[in-house]
Amino acid sequence: MLKFGSNPNVYKCSFCGKPDSQVERLVAGPGGVYICDGCIKLCTEILDNDDKGEDLINSENLPKPKTICSVLDQYVIGQAEAKKTLSVAVYNHYKRIGHPKNKKEDVELQKSNILMIGPTGSGKTLLAQTLAKILNVPLAIVDANSLTEAGYVGEDVEDVLLALIQSANGDLARAERGIVYIDEIDKISRKAGVTRDISGEGVQQALLKILEGTTVNVPMPGNHHQPMPAMVSFNTKDVLFICGGAFNDLDKIIEKRISGSKLGFGAKVSSKEDKNVSKLLREVMPDDLLNVGLIPEFVGRLPIIVTLDELDEDALVEILTKPKNALVKQYKKLMRMDDSNLVFEDEALRLIAREAIQRNTGARGLRSILERIMRNVMFEIPSVGDSTVCTITKEDVLMNKEPAVKVRNRK
Ligand code: ADP
Repeated sequence: MLKFGSNPNVYKCSFCGKPDSQVERLVAGPGGVYICDGCIKLCTEILDNDDKGEDLINSENLPKPKTICSVLDQYVIGQAEAKKTLSVAVYNHYKRIGHPKNKKEDVELQKSNILMIGPTGSGKTLLAQTLAKILNVPLAIVDANSLTEAGYVGEDVEDVLLALIQSANGDLARAERGIVYIDEIDKISRKAGVTRDISGEGVQQALLKILEGTTVNVPMPGNHHQPMPAMVSFNTKDVLFICGGAFNDLDKIIEKRISGSKLGFGAKVSSKEDKNVSKLLREVMPDDLLNVGLIPEFVGRLPIIVTLDELDEDALVEILTKPKNALVKQYKKLMRMDDSNLVFEDEALRLIAREAIQRNTGARGLRSILERIMRNVMFEIPSVGDSTVCTITKEDVLMNKEPAVKVRNRK
């Protein structure tokens, strides 16, 4: 039995050595061992971290590209090419990390960060989120607009890594193999004619090193255990960076290049089909990105380019109803909890999709449109109860106001 000092009646924790007077609880185990409440809490935290799920990266169980793609299919509608390219890229990235280093091997697998180009609300963030979920790795989502060159007011690039550490609940080893999604990357383009452009080129320069792989000292904010900020040495070589942006004028630049190269070869006047934005974006070349203000070194660190299509009416209707956590499924579930059956007429769903297209925000607009339609229904139904059916019709959407609740008894 561990006794404290010369007093045989004072017991102390067998783990941290604190006497019972300095702890709230001391739990006795067999054979005269004791553990204090503080150490119990610490052990629970360690076990909780172990429970975060299987480490898929360093195991035989790293999901194969086809498996990754089929899980993406459950959450993301359309974007078939993007899903395929991303599945392969992400698989290769984590295979490279999990592969034991062999000094004799002369082939070094290089890191391949990803650039996603596609309109607002087409699923770029959703893809990054779903990939992180599939691989059970932490994810940090940052907005390039908030980033500044070191020393200027705004977020430093180190803060991106801090966000990743926080997403990994402070587990540095997990954070160092996480995914960083940098949204609105087109907003840090170099502005034409500006020689010293702190908001654009400077940020690209600052990002270069962490994208490639380097060790960065990340300042960790203090907490009540440790009030002073501490520096953590973070190696970014295994972090997968995915940058995303809409690059609104990129299609015009590609079109100009393509039509220019066709000149002299009996160039034909481009048909309407040639002007399809999604089709043009698929033809993107690194040089086109230089023309929209990215610097060559930055483009060089994003060797995998993925383009996403603009979502059409059919795709938006599918998004409303098909994915695992589709909005319509969510509202139905909510209503079922109040013993009510929610039904959407097909034409109502089509109209919602059309309204989202008019708003030009892709699938992002669907939620607020539905929220407007459903507000009154969700206000009234809980008071009606009793096995009701509530149907959302085309008129409910068309009238552009909250529908009056029309309920009918199921029986
Ligand atoms: P982006 O990053 O391209 O602007 P997001 O991924 O943030 O767009 O999309 C916003 C929301 O719209 C997502 O949370 C998701 O609910 C829905 N969404 C967008 N694209 C898709 C898609 N292809 N499949 C399913 N849902 C989508």
